Order: sequence, then C-alpha cells, then structure tokens
Amino acid sequence: MAAQGNSSPDCLYDAVVVGAGIQGSFTAYHLAKRGQKTLLLEQFPLPHTRGSSHGQSRIIRSAYPEDHYVAMVKEAYRQWEELEAKSGTPLRSSDFKSQVALRRASSISLELH
Ligand SMILES: Cc1cc2nc3c(=O)[nH]c(=O)nc-3n(C[C@H](O)[C@H](O)[C@H](O)COP(=O)(O)OP(=O)(O)OC[C@H]3O[C@@H](n4cnc5c(N)ncnc54)[C@H](O)[C@@H]3O)c2cc1C
Repeated sequence: MAAQGNSSPDCLYDAVVVGAGIQGSFTAYHLAKRGQKTLLLEQFPLPHTRGSSHGQSRIIRSAYPEDHYVAMVKEAYRQWEELEAKSGTPLRSSDFKSQVALRRASSISLELH
C-alpha cells in the first residue's frame, strides 16, 4: 500500500524536488506515486537542451559484474514499460537503425568498428 502524505494544514508540500532532469523527474514521480504531495521545480521551460538528460538517443547496458546493477537495469526496463503503458506513449526504441538516424539527425557522428 502506498504511503500517505504527511501534509499538515500549514504545509503545502511533503517534498520539493529541484531540477526536472531524469533524476529529479524520477524522484518526484515516485514520491507522488507514494502519496507524497510533491512540487517539482525546473529553471527552464521543458523540454529544454540545457541539462544532461536532453537528447533523443541514449545507451543502456546491462553487462555489469555486480548483480545488483544488473537487477537495477532489469527493474528500470520494467518501469519504462509501466510508464509507457500509463502514458500511452512509446518512450523507447531499441531499433539500432532508428538510433543511428536520430544521431545523424542530431549531427552526432557514430563510428562502427
Ligand atoms: C552528451 C551526453 C550523453 C550522455 N549519454 C548517456 C548515455 O548514453 N547513457 C547514459 O546512461 N547516460 C548518458 N549520459 C549521462 C546522463 O544523461 C546523465 O547522467 C543524466 O541525464 C543526469 O541527469 P540529472 O537529472 O542528474 O541531470 P540533468 O539532466 O542535467 O538535470 C538537471 C536539471 O536541473 C535543473 N536545475 C539545475 N539547477 C536548478 C535550480 N537551481 N533550479 C531549478 N532547476 C535547476 C536543470 O535545468 C536541469 O533540467 C549522457 C550525458 C551527456 C551530457
């Protein structure tokens, strides 16, 4: 069962998260899911290109010697799927060609060896 918020009548939010990159957005999303009244603050209008989270392509690897990292990657995939289902929006593509196309579109060179 999700935890309930701790708001007193004088308290507007249970949690304030500064920065809506992937880390802040993830944190705020999960706080809200747990019933916490959450405020997510971002300095620029979203989406923007002035954080590390911006961009169309990312690499995710699961080849780690530590079991807990592998478990975290599996859980992250599960949560991406859950978010896609909830939002009704495909958020990922594992199609390598489209990744290359996106990189070309962003003028990022990709060398294959
Ligand atoms: C070019 C590039 C490629 C990368 N590729 C990969 C990859 O392929 N795979 C991978 O796993 N990782 C990759 N990374 C790393 C990954 O993107 C970052 O680790 C991750 O995005 C960091 O997220 P973040 O939320 O911590 O920071 P950010 O995405 O930078 O978000 C921080 C946010 O906080 C906001 N902010 C800051 N200060 C304030 C303030 N005072 N008030 C309000 N808002 C504020 C900023 O505007 C920003 O939106 C890449 C990074 C870069 C730069």
